[in-house]
Amino acid sequence: MSQNYVFFVGILLLFNACQTPESDLILVNGEIYTMEKDMPWARAMVISGNTITGVFEEDEHARKYIGSDTRVVDLEGRFVVPGFIDGHVHFNRAGALINDANLMAVADETGLQKEMSRMVDVLDDGEWITGGLWGAYERWAYGTSEAEEFQEQRWEPDRWMIDGITSDNPCLLNNYDYSMYLANSLALMMAGLESSALEGMKTNERGEPTGLIFRGSPALDRLNAIVTEKSLERLLEENRAALKKLRESGIVEVHDIAQPDQTKRFIELEGNGELTCRIWLRPDLSRGEELKGQGVTPGMHPLTKQPSQWLRYGALKGYIDGIMGTHGALFFEPYDDQPDNYGHYRRHTSDDPTMKEGNMDKMYDLIRVGYKAGFVSNVHAIGTKGVALMLDTYERLKNEMGISLAGFRVIHAQVIRPEDFQRFRELNVIAEVNPYHISDDMRWMEERIGHERCKGAYAFKSLLENGAMLSFGSDWPGTSAAEYYVHPKYLLHSAVNRTTINGTPQGGWFPEQKISMHEALKAYTINNAIAAFEGHLRGSIKKGKLADIAVCDRNLMKIDPKDILKMNVVMTIVDGRIVYDAL
Ligand SMILES: [Zn+2]
Repeated sequence: MSQNYVFFVGILLLFNACQTPESDLILVNGEIYTMEKDMPWARAMVISGNTITGVFEEDEHARKYIGSDTRVVDLEGRFVVPGFIDGHVHFNRAGALINDANLMAVADETGLQKEMSRMVDVLDDGEWITGGLWGAYERWAYGTSEAEEFQEQRWEPDRWMIDGITSDNPCLLNNYDYSMYLANSLALMMAGLESSALEGMKTNERGEPTGLIFRGSPALDRLNAIVTEKSLERLLEENRAALKKLRESGIVEVHDIAQPDQTKRFIELEGNGELTCRIWLRPDLSRGEELKGQGVTPGMHPLTKQPSQWLRYGALKGYIDGIMGTHGALFFEPYDDQPDNYGHYRRHTSDDPTMKEGNMDKMYDLIRVGYKAGFVSNVHAIGTKGVALMLDTYERLKNEMGISLAGFRVIHAQVIRPEDFQRFRELNVIAEVNPYHISDDMRWMEERIGHERCKGAYAFKSLLENGAMLSFGSDWPGTSAAEYYVHPKYLLHSAVNRTTINGTPQGGWFPEQKISMHEALKAYTINNAIAAFEGHLRGSIKKGKLADIAVCDRNLMKIDPKDILKMNVVMTIVDGRIVYDAL
């Protein structure tokens, strides 16, 4: 070997070293589904700091960036997608449902005791156990037509069922519609009600209070007065439980319906270095001017008032109508099972105390004022009339103000008239939909609005065919009528299969509205980044974008759709940092 040659190779190596800076994290041997048209599949990726600095079809190209401090993860053929972005959560309630009682599916003694045992393990002695919503699923199992029969047959708990477990924790639980409460003996004792029965307290044949207390009674007032508010530390613990759930689900960002108190807790968690999910805040529709007055606009951190990729204001959230679960969604025709009921308006669209009379001028003004303060609006509209009124309002905004409606959303867009599908594209308005609602609501949808209207319910395929952009959200943790899961496997399953989690009905509910896994993943990643005006920064796996990644144990693009629910997330990376690792 000539000296010249050695010298030449030496120069080349040196040159190479300058060209390939060491990276922090390299993923190799994966099946990476990038959500990018130019390179849909890749095998390896390089991450430096919080950024994806290379995406490759061959491992060896990525391995060039290995330095002494680089962590290399062998994915062993696992499936990788951009981290999931959940377009609709109620973060604070979700944490409460994990760290406080969740009795929605409970309608028997064993179930109640099991949940109380879980609670006393989570909480310190002396802390109140509250909430619960027992009997929600029992109630809906009866259907609306048999509501009277249900009233007679429904399960009723008593304090002796839980006293043995909850001797150190006072309890005040409530049923699904808040018409009944259950206090344990400790709570009754603290309220001075253990032996004396006030009005509204159920008693047994010996005249002893059973712990069941009815809504609006003096006994309930007395108990409510002594329930201590949750401490900041307990609320933070609930938040931590919710963040853990998100990490384990591969979710890297949520669009949260934000309450001011929760925003403060986000700031605290971020300060502690505990925030493992990006938060896009959606404050109430009425708050645009107030926020502008505080010097914050979309994309700004609530405390520093500087642009942030972690915690920032997004859109304003408003409401047109009620929900399907309570016959409150607004329709042009009445409910099939309640012939006098067309649903109702909500606060932002009505000044009428019964919410039966609408005022869309009020809604228009709220949106207009919010826009002038810099914020787009995301508005809840569920029934055919709710959705149509919302589209009318957006159309008016576009025409009268001459603005683009990019980023404006119809939240839920649950039941749509045939003639309204094309308006989403025409107006460039996003349909923010909640696929898992299909799996839950199909139990009673046809009973309530009939077969014909159900053709336009959760009609994702029709929306896509008409050129609408879909944004997926879980609506975690649900309503008083239903629990909605946050793990992506549920949303993907529902959108692709349109069955319950038990696989019924076979072939799917209105199967012509099934969409492909690719479209479902799009609505769950890149579309939600675009919906937050950050499509150039996140939402796909591309050189230069932020490193937000989910690794799944099954290849969602290749598995049999009936196996989607078997998928688990095994690794989550947010901002270049591994926040969950079960590889
Ligand atoms: Zn919601």
